[in-house]
Amino acid sequence: MKISHLGIAVKSLEEAGIRYGELFDLDEPHREIVEEQKVSILSFPVGDAVIELTAATAPESPIAKFIEKRGEGIHHIAFEVEDLQAELDRLKAAGVRLINETPREGAHDMLIAFVHPSSFNGVLVELCQRKG
Ligand code: ZN
Repeated sequence: MKISHLGIAVKSLEEAGIRYGELFDLDEPHREIVEEQKVSILSFPVGDAVIELTAATAPESPIAKFIEKRGEGIHHIAFEVEDLQAELDRLKAAGVRLINETPREGAHDMLIAFVHPSSFNGVLVELCQRKG
């Protein structure tokens, strides 16, 4: 298992993009829209991991709800695994509360699933697996 990315919920992708671009001295981050999650993403590679600035593309987006409740900030930590379904089954059997019991489409051509924050000390955990 390794850290794939950290998701940061932001109100304005453009403003946050400029800010983080300065921090990482990088002005051409990767951009992507994930329809299924109703988010748009700016990705900054940092070593083997990625910082993902994530903004809502619709009021019912989970990111919009998160910002409404808790404000901007770190939204989730994502771990890359080899076999996502096997990990979900293993965690479920161990009594971990899953948000997604089956993989769905994520950014960067990955399959993803979320684990409920109540199972990991208030931290929303995402597991992801490279496709193919
Ligand atoms: Zn993520």
